Amino acid sequence: MIDLKGEALSDELQNLSSKVLSNDTSIKSIRTGQFKPDVSRIVIDLIGPSKVKVFSLPPIEPYGHRLVIDVYPNNFDPLANLLKQLDGNNKPPEAVPDSTVKPLPKKLLVPQREAIIIAIDPGHGGEDPGAIGAKGTKEKIIVLQIAQKLKALLDKDPDMKAILIRSGDYFVPLGTRVNKARAAKADLFISIHADAFRKKNVSGSSVFALSERGASSAFAKYLANKENAADLIGGVSIDDKEPALARTLLDLSQSATINDSLKLGNHVLKEIKKVNNLHKKYVEQAGFAVLKALDTPSILVETAFISNPGEEKNLRSAAYQNKLANSIYLGIKSYLKTKPSIAFYTEEDF
Ligand SMILES: [Zn+2]
Repeated sequence: MIDLKGEALSDELQNLSSKVLSNDTSIKSIRTGQFKPDVSRIVIDLIGPSKVKVFSLPPIEPYGHRLVIDVYPNNFDPLANLLKQLDGNNKPPEAVPDSTVKPLPKKLLVPQREAIIIAIDPGHGGEDPGAIGAKGTKEKIIVLQIAQKLKALLDKDPDMKAILIRSGDYFVPLGTRVNKARAAKADLFISIHADAFRKKNVSGSSVFALSERGASSAFAKYLANKENAADLIGGVSIDDKEPALARTLLDLSQSATINDSLKLGNHVLKEIKKVNNLHKKYVEQAGFAVLKALDTPSILVETAFISNPGEEKNLRSAAYQNKLANSIYLGIKSYLKTKPSIAFYTEEDF
């Protein structure tokens, strides 16, 4: 039961009860009422014993001050769960009890091992729209469409199998993105985004790999900060994130992976060049949180600038999205032809 002092019962508060889905695994129902003239009361009926975490978040576009209430099943500790997996045991991770995240289909969890597994990670989603263009185009929608096209191309190729880290318009915390890629035993990880900058004339595609040290340019740093804010927008407590990330930086030997990520990035960049101008002619490096916890070659593709009117128009076009998806596909394929030295998972891992 939560009492909000000095708060009249707004439409938003009254509508809370309709936000609870019938298949929610933690919350049975939410009731709201005007308890006193200046006090609104929210009553959350839980399905079973639960752990609850309450914290506030400062304003970040497009939200004002927020009170966040996380409800977990009693026996679930997301941070411990993530750290356990990062300790290198080969057991598949426990299911993430996020009612909005669809579980991976079983057949993808035990794939045929002659196929290389590629995790495609469409950025943002749900409460986090990502960048928004002048025409109102939302990054989260565009990158999902490109990701779906890329998945179709990869799945048609007998050598590859793709999984989508996000397959609908819902929020996925960074930690869950990493968990899903690891659960699927992904050999490569491709995060897809669409850039934005305050100057409308800035344009071009970029490919990023993780940096061990600082960012390769001031712009790369600016961008990494922007993309890393996703958890904040989606309402994830920052306290949870810091130890996990600090830990992954400590116990993964990332140099070899970064080297392969740069190679993969170069192959993709070479193909994207045929479709769009490049923002930078080389693979840039920065500390993207989503790339940090992975020990497989991972890149982040900023397909084009949604803040540039011409590129926004392109990004909305299905034909152009197909071209972009195809260029990423060809880049992956030409990288794999070089028979990279990275240790792909083998049959024995299952
Ligand atoms: Zn983004």
